[in-house]
Amino acid sequence: MLTRLMEAHPLVRWGRSAHLTSTIPDGWYDIADALFGEIEACLSEDELALFHVASICPRRGQLLIILEGNYTEEIGLLVDGLAALSRLICQECGGQDALFRHPAVNLTLCDFCEHERGVRIRRSRSMPNR
Ligand SMILES: [Zn+2]
Repeated sequence: MLTRLMEAHPLVRWGRSAHLTSTIPDGWYDIADALFGEIEACLSEDELALFHVASICPRRGQLLIILEGNYTEEIGLLVDGLAALSRLICQECGGQDALFRHPAVNLTLCDFCEHERGVRIRRSRSMPNR
């Protein structure tokens, strides 16, 4: 997912260790893709060269992007908006009726994925060889 995002938005620069610290859950790829498209559309190549993505990863049930360098307040607001939006979207399937169900493990899952996840966990416990 990360490589796909990088290739889809070649104008956005990434920090040297961004690939080590970054991970994008499948369900959040589309909103990250839309955000990067918006950043590319808003800024000139010169403006895009002034900052880079240090990391993009799920944290506390939302998709957090850390930028380093000089970027406008508008870009900061877009990034904050993505974090807020991600709380409403299932990180596994992209379903839009996700609820923030797991403060303990910090996952944002829809009812279906929450149920599936529970089934998988129970199955792996009862059949350790599979
Ligand atoms: Zn889901």
